[in-house]
Amino acid sequence: MEKESLLGANFADLERKFTSIGLTKLDAKRVLPWIHVKCVSSFDAMTDVPQKVRSLLKENFFLERPRCCNLQKSSDGTQKALLEFSDGHQIETVFIPDEKRNTACLSTQVGCAMGCKFCHTGRQSFERNLRCDEIMAQVFFWKDRLPTLTELQYPHLLNLVFMGMGEPLLNVANLFQALELLLDEKNHNFSRNKVTVSTSGIVENDLLQMAKFGIKLAISLHAPDDIKRNELMPINKKYNIAMLLDVAKEYLSRSNTEHVTFEYLLLSGINDSDDDACRLAKLLSGIRGKVNLITFNSWNDSTFSGCSRARADAFLSILLSKGIRTIIRKSRGNDIAAACGQLKTTIK
Ligand code: SF4
Repeated sequence: MEKESLLGANFADLERKFTSIGLTKLDAKRVLPWIHVKCVSSFDAMTDVPQKVRSLLKENFFLERPRCCNLQKSSDGTQKALLEFSDGHQIETVFIPDEKRNTACLSTQVGCAMGCKFCHTGRQSFERNLRCDEIMAQVFFWKDRLPTLTELQYPHLLNLVFMGMGEPLLNVANLFQALELLLDEKNHNFSRNKVTVSTSGIVENDLLQMAKFGIKLAISLHAPDDIKRNELMPINKKYNIAMLLDVAKEYLSRSNTEHVTFEYLLLSGINDSDDDACRLAKLLSGIRGKVNLITFNSWNDSTFSGCSRARADAFLSILLSKGIRTIIRKSRGNDIAAACGQLKTTIK
């Protein structure tokens, strides 16, 4: 029998898997915190677990992290890891250090089917969803590395953003199972307001189901009207801006979160004019939202270019003058292609 990873297992999973090999509920209770609180990567480290139990665990399961095929470090401290799973599929995950908080950007799929025109991942065809243990493996990978990052002023992983490769809401079963483990105070205990899931705009019931977690929602908007958004994001032809904003309002009322974040990538000559800013402000007025303006990070053979800082400032001023909470998001890891929309792996 092939060994199974326990990195995505909750208590009920452990209990079920353990009883199938003759172990007990008590064994599951003992082992769970070693996996999700102490985050050990070997059964031998579980010192209060009897030797005989550890031997059985080793025969049937594993806790090893996926192989890291490449680790790149940016001049700004951002790190990008290329992880390979047992079937040979690879994904990228990013660690963004900060004085007061460190963030991990997580992938949920191998490749992506959404085909957003400005996104490097969107050029890579969809291969498969990540399982819960493969999503969790990215968190374990960065937690393992924390002690080696001596330059960190704050040596903890505080923020998680599901903004890596893939559309999280097309992999909800695994996403939700991972969120349960990550938010559970008896397990990883991440704060609900430090976890953000970003969507390209899948307006299905799953998005509203996610409100039960009370986590932050980010919507990749990137255009002030349907004509422009249709060009940039094919998903808009199925779920237009009006549908997206309706669901954003509903999410706010159900999740009790402070605001929804609207991501807006400034693309020179495409969506960055004063008129675009005015129409965006009109669109978002009355919604408890915050706009993150992102300067475009180019990649090879991209047909888009980013706007100047002066243009971004002018766009920002218009939104602020119309009462829309807005910031220009600092781009990180641009020199190692770890910034927003730059992740891509070689198709195997
Ligand atoms: S922006 Fe997100 S949803 Fe769109 S293609 Fe890239 S990874 Fe997929």
